[in-house]
Amino acid sequence: MSMENENITHRKLTTASGRPYAEHENTQSVGSRGPLLLQDFILHEKMAHFNRERIPERVVHAKGSGAYGTFKVTHDITRYTKAKIFSEIGKSCRIFLRFSTVGGEKGSSDAERDPRGFALKFYTEDGNWDLVGNNTPVFFVKDPKKFSDFIHTQKRDPRTNLKSPTMMWDFWSLNPESLHQVMILMSDRGTPLTYRHMDGFGSHTYSMINAENERVWVKFHFKTQQGIKNLDAAQASQMHAVDMDHAQRDLVEAIDNKEFPKWTLKIQVMTEAEAKSFRWNPFDLTKIWPHAEFPLIEVGEIELNQLPNNYFAHVEQAAFAPSNLVDGIGFSPDRMLQGRILSYADAQRYRLGINYEQIPVNRCPFMVNNFHRDGQMRIDENGNDDPNYFPNSFGDVVPDQAYKEPAWELDSNVADWYDRNAGEGDNDHFTQPGDLYRKVLSTEDRKHLVNNIVGSMNGINGPRRMQIINLQLCHFFRADIQLGMAIAKGLGVDVEQAMSSRH
Ligand code: NDP
Repeated sequence: MSMENENITHRKLTTASGRPYAEHENTQSVGSRGPLLLQDFILHEKMAHFNRERIPERVVHAKGSGAYGTFKVTHDITRYTKAKIFSEIGKSCRIFLRFSTVGGEKGSSDAERDPRGFALKFYTEDGNWDLVGNNTPVFFVKDPKKFSDFIHTQKRDPRTNLKSPTMMWDFWSLNPESLHQVMILMSDRGTPLTYRHMDGFGSHTYSMINAENERVWVKFHFKTQQGIKNLDAAQASQMHAVDMDHAQRDLVEAIDNKEFPKWTLKIQVMTEAEAKSFRWNPFDLTKIWPHAEFPLIEVGEIELNQLPNNYFAHVEQAAFAPSNLVDGIGFSPDRMLQGRILSYADAQRYRLGINYEQIPVNRCPFMVNNFHRDGQMRIDENGNDDPNYFPNSFGDVVPDQAYKEPAWELDSNVADWYDRNAGEGDNDHFTQPGDLYRKVLSTEDRKHLVNNIVGSMNGINGPRRMQIINLQLCHFFRADIQLGMAIAKGLGVDVEQAMSSRH
């Protein structure tokens, strides 16, 4: 029953075990001023439950907002995929979408400069498909081994417990592959006006497999129909000061007012042959596929039209994992994707427990048949009296060979930490950030980008300040000389002197 409903019909207050009881506010005591009685178990239940209200906060993407909605197919892509969700134009499917900031704690501001999470769950008839992306097409690192180190730099300094621009820029300056995402983050797209006014990306390269078992590589783009709108740095600080929850508020108000936000789903497709000759590694999460070479192909539309009636039950307990794919959509050799296949499901098992897929927001509404049994918080029928082992001679749950993916042909049979055959393109961390600066950003966008970078880098302090600044400046120069010059000028760095001191 909603707190806004005026026609209240009363229901009996009960303990967690369902026993109605009479006294909710006063504890049983000896006389009116005497000590409390241990036997008032309702006091224990209330205090104990309250002590356990918080579950582990997500280590990243802790602050989030979510809503249910629908996905509808508008264009036929069955030549690329046999996924049932895309089987015919007009077909629709229920979805849940969770937006988030990445580095901040659960109580942090929605106006932080940060990528925004864009995590989608499609409840398809072939199982739940989670597309767990961001509002940017690229990421800071391309190998999952670097992820925890990178995230530590976005969190708090171990001594001061403060956010530290020194840690951030130290890491970025030593990892030039971060440059592309750093540029997007430092542009005004790093502070979207609301969650409705930003694009979403699957970010990784995935694969699609069609009915003939042919594979293509694919990237997913969700283009906002509300238009891109951002806060500039001053507006973001102002928003931070007046409303820490402005993006949550905006989403609630928009859906309550029936202004249902929508995004158009488009894909880029690359054949296996094109991937082999592409000048960059098509599976590198720090790079995009240029639109001119791999045009966006329209697929469908998502609409958010239902707020969950309980935030914790649905948004906090929503568990996304890139390992949740459906038949017709597959993985790729993207190293970050491969790492996330492990880390996301693992994080949910830690945060919510081994049976987290049974929580209503995560539960597949169609079929779930397997031999998993027991474990904490098992809340379904636990397989009833069906066999709990396989193979068996009694049950009817069997693997279906129709769901087998075509085999992968690998490029190499050498196991190593580095790709000895990596082309020049693999270590080119500068062309695409340069393209963004030169070809995409307006004069106004560039001005804001430079100011935002200078403002942030001015926060670098300590004995390594100039070393970090000079190294990072080199990366900006390699992307674009004008960009490097503008940032150096903003930081008051004498470029000639800095260059000569390096020789
Ligand atoms: P296009 O000119 O075809 O596309 C430019 C893209 O840049 C558009 O998707 C646009 O988004 C987006 N964009 C505009 N401003 C920003 C910003 N401040 N931060 C991030 N993205 C922005 O170019 P190309 O495909 O040839 O790519 C050129 C550069 O554009 C890339 O190096 C990359 O930095 C950036 N980019 C490319 C994307 C891709 O998938 N090809 C995706 C996003 C960015 P919108 O349409 O919403 O305005």
